[in-house]
Amino acid sequence: MDKITIIVPCYNEQEGVEQFYTAVTDVLKDIKDCEFRYLFINDGSTDDTLLKIRELAADHEDVSYIGLSRNFGKEPAMMAGLDYAEGDAVIIMDADLQHPPQLIPEMIDWWRKGYDDVCAKRTGRDDEAWLKRTAANLFYLGMDSVSKIKLQRDVGDFRLLDKRCVAALRLMRENQRFTKGMYTWVGYRKKEIPFHVQPRAYGKTTWNYLSLCNLAIEGITSFTTAPLRMTTMLGMGVSVLALGYMCFVLFNALCYGDPVAGYPTLITVMLFLGGVQLLSLGIIGEYLGRVFTESKHRPAYLVDEYNGIKVIYDSPVK
Ligand code: UDP
Ligand code: MG
Repeated sequence: MDKITIIVPCYNEQEGVEQFYTAVTDVLKDIKDCEFRYLFINDGSTDDTLLKIRELAADHEDVSYIGLSRNFGKEPAMMAGLDYAEGDAVIIMDADLQHPPQLIPEMIDWWRKGYDDVCAKRTGRDDEAWLKRTAANLFYLGMDSVSKIKLQRDVGDFRLLDKRCVAALRLMRENQRFTKGMYTWVGYRKKEIPFHVQPRAYGKTTWNYLSLCNLAIEGITSFTTAPLRMTTMLGMGVSVLALGYMCFVLFNALCYGDPVAGYPTLITVMLFLGGVQLLSLGIIGEYLGRVFTESKHRPAYLVDEYNGIKVIYDSPVK
């Protein structure tokens, strides 16, 4: 009998928790040779999500839950889930039913055929805004060309992970997490199965363009130092150009007695160099910032309670 834990990060999902449980159990009851457990992670919701989860756990013995001490974000919430999950495999799902549970039997089939990471790949992003799609395409294109890690396209967190992958992911304790890249980084045998993303069943998404932009920077800075290399190259390129131009100006002035070109050239060059310098500083700062946060070695999340028991951090975490 295989044991599988379903990890569900929840942030302000009070309307959906129960609906989610019913929908998923409905699919799972037909899978006979597996034992399923649910692990809900309340990511510091400001509504009654925790209450709903507690009720659910009281009614059903296959439900466990973790309450985080505040809202840490989906990535740390998933990390908590991976840390506390038990069994032979885990399935990570959103609580808002955007991930169709009907895919689970197929995932399990592939897992049994020997794949360690069976992920759902969304087909067509037609329902998304043009800008979001283009931005996503650009991001993947950029990452592919600069990073050694090839990100999986249009693949999110909806996936089945073998316990080997989970163990590997647990080793990665970084605070600023770009899980998408981490799944690729750990490797193992991957299988992508197509699915169509459902519209959110209720409530509204917590994502916006700013958070997507942040996620992209997160992704780049956590998986490649290519921007630093590019600044070096840019610096070298600009220096060579400047040297060439200097020779040209000197030559003109000395041989032809040409007066030095005036204000327009000067201001353009100054502004351009200023821009390049600021950009380079920004890029260095971005990496320095990461070093700063990571060097504090803080835990990525704090658990407030685990299945109703208050957690005290007087000893190393679990
Ligand atoms: N989520 C979370 N912490 C957060 C934000 C979101 O645990 O700070 C959960 C949320 O409850 C949901 C999942 O992450 O189960 C995906 O969130 P959302 O639906 O807002 O994102 P989208 O589906 O639009 O990518
Ligand atoms: Mg969603």
